[in-house]
Amino acid sequence: MNKAPTSFLATLRAIAACAVGIAMSIPFFASAEVTSPVLAINEDAATAKITVQALRGNVSVLMGSGGNIGVLSEPDGKLLVDAGIAVSKPRLKAALDGISTLPPKFLINTHWHWDHTDGNEWVHDEGATIIAHENVLKRLLDRTRVIEWGYTFPPVAPGALPTVTYVKQKTIKFADETVILTNHGSGHSDGDTTVYFKKADVLQLGDIFWNGHYPFIDYGAGGSIDGMIRLATIGLTQGTANTIIVPGHGPVGDRAQLKEYRDMLVSIRKNVSTLKKQGKSLAEIVAQKPTAKFDAKYGDYVIDPAFFTLLVYTGV
Ligand SMILES: [Zn+2]
Repeated sequence: MNKAPTSFLATLRAIAACAVGIAMSIPFFASAEVTSPVLAINEDAATAKITVQALRGNVSVLMGSGGNIGVLSEPDGKLLVDAGIAVSKPRLKAALDGISTLPPKFLINTHWHWDHTDGNEWVHDEGATIIAHENVLKRLLDRTRVIEWGYTFPPVAPGALPTVTYVKQKTIKFADETVILTNHGSGHSDGDTTVYFKKADVLQLGDIFWNGHYPFIDYGAGGSIDGMIRLATIGLTQGTANTIIVPGHGPVGDRAQLKEYRDMLVSIRKNVSTLKKQGKSLAEIVAQKPTAKFDAKYGDYVIDPAFFTLLVYTGV
């Protein structure tokens, strides 16, 4: 979702505002029917156009179905990083066939969220072995509630589960590309994987990096603002100065954009922490707009300024 329709964003913002309202015990939308953003995003994905962007070497990215999807295409088949939303299957399949008609052999999940794993089952059915951090398997096996999204995810189907898991690092040799999976500890969740395509010099960070948008942080699954900052900072040291960086959401970026994003996280964390230490309530802090300097650039998407303030407030 690079450019979402206005009504879709409006729905998400209503929910974001509602989440903040609940957290601040303010009776927002007392009579409004609120749809979970999960349903709104699924609805959007059912018709969203899938775009294909060639990056470098044999690596491309597909956008338009939940999180960004990395694709390594080799003579042996494909390796995918994340699987988007299941209802996008026909359009994702057409986009993948446009790169090559060879089947997916591997699918790596950057983390457990459904906008990155909902397509697991059909990609597995096409022949892919699913690989993820061990905590991703744990969450997909269980019922998991994301309070901020107002949604409980049921356990996924057996075919959607990762069958290969790792803890700290795993290297996959695929044709002449070396793919390095690393977990640097908790950031966006407790099962984040960064994927580095060594030959192509492309780094996919999953939802540690939202390029040009305030990010979601999954506290319920071990994420935190400090973890996000730490992992974004590590991302700046991965690869080379010319590394192409694929975020979980937003356009493909580079080190300069990742640094700007990391600095934004640091700055807002400092602002919110200072106000919280002064004893101010969440409502008072939101009213003081601690994100103001960054809102024009980062605040126009799923996580609006008030919602992001809540997410930072939770962790300081
Ligand atoms: Zn996520």
